[in-house]
Amino acid sequence: VAELAWRPTPLLLASAGVHAAALSSLAISRSWEAPLAAVVANHLVIAAACMSPRSGWLGPNMTRIPSDRVHNQIALTFDDGPDPVVTPKVLDLLEQAGSRATFFCLGERAAQHADLIGMIRDRGHGVENHTQRHPNTFALRGAGAMRREVLQAQDSIEQTAGRRPRFFRAPAGMQNPWLFPILAAAGLSLVSWTRRGFDTASASSATVASRLTRGLAAGDILLLHDGYASTRTRDPGVVIDALARVLEAMQKLELRSEAMHRLLPAEAGPRSR
Ligand SMILES: [Zn+2]
Repeated sequence: VAELAWRPTPLLLASAGVHAAALSSLAISRSWEAPLAAVVANHLVIAAACMSPRSGWLGPNMTRIPSDRVHNQIALTFDDGPDPVVTPKVLDLLEQAGSRATFFCLGERAAQHADLIGMIRDRGHGVENHTQRHPNTFALRGAGAMRREVLQAQDSIEQTAGRRPRFFRAPAGMQNPWLFPILAAAGLSLVSWTRRGFDTASASSATVASRLTRGLAAGDILLLHDGYASTRTRDPGVVIDALARVLEAMQKLELRSEAMHRLLPAEAGPRSR
């Protein structure tokens, strides 16, 4: 496994400083109000960073493809799949448009639908890591539980896709300070997005597409979902129509989507050993 280097960010170093200063101030004076207020304020800042999917305060977080890696390419990304109803339709639309995308899959779903993972891989798309089971409390868990979610998905996806993921997207985009050393040890880089369409919450594909294509430019990372066909109606929802609209807008702008592992080959990435 290629390990990436982990270094604490300025926010984490400053936080360690605040705690050390609060402790030593407690040791030399009997007043606890100011040190306590400093520590509480520091924890509020860290909590805000945890809940900001696009922030890089806790560790490296890719929100765009670096401009030296792209000409006319963007990165379409699909979370929470694969899904037997939605994923094949997404693959057909991408193929018609001559575009390749990145699928942040759940390890459990990959194991259940190895045939779909094979289809994604055989058409040249990327299969990357979005945890094993998508726990909604992912960012509230301890380091051990988080590491298990990440590594189980690495194994499930490697077994079905034949390639170990290099990119990770956190459930709901939530981070915490111990996520980054776990990702670095697994050779994974955190990816969030430039823009998202809220396609799982919106009933209007036109609205979703306009959120995604406002100011669309090379290097953008767009977030959609291919994991939510209603089990009752088997309705692929707004994502298919929204994707068709996004691909049309891309064509007008002469942009195409490329898989992230192709835009950022391992040897061009951060220091690995
Ligand atoms: Zn998700």
